[in-house]
Amino acid sequence: MTIGKHRLGAAGGKTLDVFNPATGEIIASVPRGGVEDVDKAVKAARAALNGEWSSMSPVDRQRVMLKIADLIEANGEELAQLETLNNGKSVMLSRLIEVGASADYMRYMAGWATKIEGSTIDISVSVPPGTKYNAYTRKEPVGVVGAITPWNFPLNMAVWKIAPALACGCTVVIKPAEETPLTTVRLVELCLEAGLPEGVVNVVTGTGEEAGAALTAHPDVDKLAFTGSTEVGKRIGIQAMRDMKRVTLELGGKAPMIMFDDMDLDQLGIAAGVGVFFNSGQTCCAGTRVYAQKGVYEKVCEIMAQVTQSLPIGSGLDPANQINPMVSAKHQAHVSACIAGGIAQGATPLLDTSPYAGAGYFVRPQIFTNVNRDMAIMQEEVFGPVFTITPFEDPEDAVRMANDTKYGLGASIWSTNINTVNRYVPRIKAGTVWVNTHNLPDQNMPFGGYKQSGIGREHGRSALDNYLETKSVCIALG
Ligand code: NDP
Repeated sequence: MTIGKHRLGAAGGKTLDVFNPATGEIIASVPRGGVEDVDKAVKAARAALNGEWSSMSPVDRQRVMLKIADLIEANGEELAQLETLNNGKSVMLSRLIEVGASADYMRYMAGWATKIEGSTIDISVSVPPGTKYNAYTRKEPVGVVGAITPWNFPLNMAVWKIAPALACGCTVVIKPAEETPLTTVRLVELCLEAGLPEGVVNVVTGTGEEAGAALTAHPDVDKLAFTGSTEVGKRIGIQAMRDMKRVTLELGGKAPMIMFDDMDLDQLGIAAGVGVFFNSGQTCCAGTRVYAQKGVYEKVCEIMAQVTQSLPIGSGLDPANQINPMVSAKHQAHVSACIAGGIAQGATPLLDTSPYAGAGYFVRPQIFTNVNRDMAIMQEEVFGPVFTITPFEDPEDAVRMANDTKYGLGASIWSTNINTVNRYVPRIKAGTVWVNTHNLPDQNMPFGGYKQSGIGREHGRSALDNYLETKSVCIALG
């Protein structure tokens, strides 16, 4: 862990093993931080907030953030290999997203550091009569941020929280997922190397129940930033309300992909490869519920099955492999249970149902037809290489079925008819609706959920508001 400028073990001396999902072997152990460690880290973050960091100008904050981005790139291959060893994902994705998109996002947010502004306000109050006032707003850092991140994009999710926090002048204590702490630990070392004052970003490794809960409940944390399951997100939200902490929650999804008769069938490769199987399906906005209009339904089933069968399964260290291991033995068991549950509830599997032989936490991809809304695979997050295909005739039925979920993170519409697209985009209850593509976030495009997929938006200008307080200033003119 890094607290202030010190690399520390846990106060209690406990450690957690870290595994390589492709082999099941232990590759590292990290401190199992708890209440005492979190308290130390929050104190370091508070001291940094009141110290050198607060007196640094926006352009100096920007300069150090740009240096962090440079160091992410300069150490990119090490970070990518580390991520793939720890998370299991394709090294190609580690290079592209964990390293490339993280460096880009740090630079994007560095740009905002010098553009934070309030506004001048004309006000009507006039007490005593005739008095004039000059009023304006200031945007100020919200304070100490407690960031809790998941295992599916470990380095990238850490940067999604740290970059806007730094742009706004906040300080951070981050707790990475227990399965995938390694790149976050390395990132915080790089922050110090870049010249970020000590204590501005601290990392406490450990479990959610211990370190995560301690961070959530800590009285001196001003804001919580969380990505993960809806279940844990609700717990964090409740705690935040108890303390009136600011909170942003990016939670689960069950994204629909609605395919109309006039879609371009050549795009089904993208729909499967990027829409569903990106990161082996371990993505919150994966398109796990396909609704295909009657005219293309058979073709969609046939082509998506062909594409899926052609995806090579294996270790992420070989970039040719597109289905990589699940992150942990526990998650492998969860995804396998979801597939077994689908079969038990009467859905028809289109692909090989035999377990994948060999070491590592692999699961064969699966597609289900003959599904209905009451099946668990239609309502619950599988978070693996599994999706369903449902036929529809009337577009109104497709809209109703697409919205028939507690989630609302992402969705897509596949059609070459501009009228169809424009008619149905507003009808979908989701934070992002893609058209003729799926699963592509961008640093400048707000990202977040409707319904139980979360609260708040990350990315873009709107991400800054999560890390800023608005202060109104009212000056009576003499
Ligand atoms: P969790 O929501 O449990 O974990 C996300 C983060 O929250 C981790 O850092 C975790 O720590 C931490 N955490 C867990 N419990 C608490 C707590 N009580 N207080 C504070 N922090 C806590 O997700 P899982 O890893 O268990 O995955 C379960 C399911 O969640 C997946 O199958 C998937 O459906 C969904 N998920 C969604 C993600 C998304 O991007 N929206 C990302 C990951 C998962 P630790 O890991 O150490 O326990």
